[in-house]
Amino acid sequence: MRILIQKFGGTSVATAERRKQVAVKVSEAVSEGYVPVVVVSAIGRAGDPYATDTFLNLVRGVYPDVPRRELDLLMSCGEIISGAVMVSTLQSMGFESVLLTGGQAGIITNDNFGEARIIRVEPKKILEYLERGVIVVVTGFQGVSEGGQVTTLGRGGSDTTASALGVALEAEAIDIYTDVDGIMTADPRIVEDAQILDTVTYTEITQLAHEGAKVIHPRAVEIAMQRNIPLRIKSTFSDAPGTLVSSLQPDMSAGTDITGDRLITGIAHTPNVTQIKLAMQDSEDVRGVQKKIFKAMALAEVSVDFISVQPESVLYTVRDEVADKAAEILQNMGFKPSIIRGCAKVSIVGAGIAGVPGVMAKLVEALSEAGVDILQSADSHATIWVLVRQENMVSAVQALHKKFRLGA
Ligand code: ADP
Ligand code: MG
Repeated sequence: MRILIQKFGGTSVATAERRKQVAVKVSEAVSEGYVPVVVVSAIGRAGDPYATDTFLNLVRGVYPDVPRRELDLLMSCGEIISGAVMVSTLQSMGFESVLLTGGQAGIITNDNFGEARIIRVEPKKILEYLERGVIVVVTGFQGVSEGGQVTTLGRGGSDTTASALGVALEAEAIDIYTDVDGIMTADPRIVEDAQILDTVTYTEITQLAHEGAKVIHPRAVEIAMQRNIPLRIKSTFSDAPGTLVSSLQPDMSAGTDITGDRLITGIAHTPNVTQIKLAMQDSEDVRGVQKKIFKAMALAEVSVDFISVQPESVLYTVRDEVADKAAEILQNMGFKPSIIRGCAKVSIVGAGIAGVPGVMAKLVEALSEAGVDILQSADSHATIWVLVRQENMVSAVQALHKKFRLGA
């Protein structure tokens, strides 16, 4: 069997007309000789009647401390509704099809409600249906714990479902259908002339996704990468070829020499970040203090990012929503942190950055020309991160996109 995973995001299943287009993509796969397994997200976005955020708002306003188990049961409903509707669309077009919940599909997770991790997939039931020629629709974003509890996988979890099924079913490819024609050099919502990337490596897209390019969940990429299953990001609403994610560098897959590697693949951004800075006093036991700070953050489950530890200062970021909590912890410990709320992390990603002189100079030049102050920066072999004020985020992304000639 040539199994193909086809995952459709929230915007792709939002209306009856769009669900028909989804069914057309499924029928095309069938005519090409594939056995499709369809993964669906919940219908629409926050505010839409059947969107997951809408369900959450039903209880949040009433009682904020709903047990996590019940929250997961509630959040799992969106995909069940969407999947049942998808089955009826497929049936109406003459395809025998069946809906399986995450649990029914054999997706076994740990019991970390709200952010559960897939431990393994038992694909027996899916395979039974596939062998009988039935199209299986699986609810994304959910699984079941060993103890039989319904769990959800966190934001972007349907992508992870698709990849996990792809690996378990030894699929030929995993197609992630969304509302853009592929992975682009920057979020098209803020960069008008962002370009579609024909090919990217697993590493590049994992990095972009981690840094905020929400077109695919990084975990989904990591899972597909483990078995080298090609991932394709495509639009439900066009016939564009999309982006192929594989382990090959673009120039190598094209069969040419490897010296022409592109320098920068793309630019990603993460808004709503707070910078925390602690100056060390001369008299202090600096190492002891550093240890105390990060231990306290970990104990309070405040995740920290963009950490820069120096003898005279400690600098790091947290998400805006936990900034007050972090500040309070530090003040209770006797520190006087300087805090800048409302920042954004902007990242340039490219496997070609490593060791190439002048990239940082170009970046600094672009931001200075755009009148954007850099609050902090860091780099690794394939990424350079800068922290800017959120009001500068869009102009920073646009300026860098232009400076590195990623546009048309
Ligand atoms: P879905 O509901 O299909 O999962 P998402 O909203 O999760 O869709 O992802 C698609 C969106 O990701 C696009 O509409 C686009 O605005 C955004 N996006 C952010 N960065 C990028 C990028 N580099 N390339 C393409 N899309 C991006
Ligand atoms: Mg998504």
